[in-house]
Amino acid sequence: MSKQDKEKKQISAEAYYVTQQHGTEPAFSGNLNDNKEPGEYVCVCCGSKLFDHTAKYDSGSGWPSFYKPFEKNSVAYSDDYEIGYLRKEVHCSKCSAHLGHVFDDGPQPTGLRYCINSVALDFIPEEKE
Ligand SMILES: [Zn+2]
Repeated sequence: MSKQDKEKKQISAEAYYVTQQHGTEPAFSGNLNDNKEPGEYVCVCCGSKLFDHTAKYDSGSGWPSFYKPFEKNSVAYSDDYEIGYLRKEVHCSKCSAHLGHVFDDGPQPTGLRYCINSVALDFIPEEKE
């Protein structure tokens, strides 16, 4: 996809629901859950690089899971009490799009599980030489 296409691209209704209205896609519905290709995961709204494949792992949760963001400040956090107990909400540090939540039952080295909605991400495959 060229840069120009990208700018013209509109986000889907699902992506709007998740990123702007703090929605959650159904487990195992996302196209990136099983994705194991090398590449970068960027914000569907602003294109900011959020995660890459080296931190992705199969958590069995039905959502793409990462043990760390691309850079510490790629994402920002807020407290979410929506379902009665505290969850740490993860959003894009650049445009504030809601991405998912972070839990402390992930693998080492961080022990964190970033549980992220597929529709909040765009995947950019690594260029093959
Ligand atoms: Zn963003």
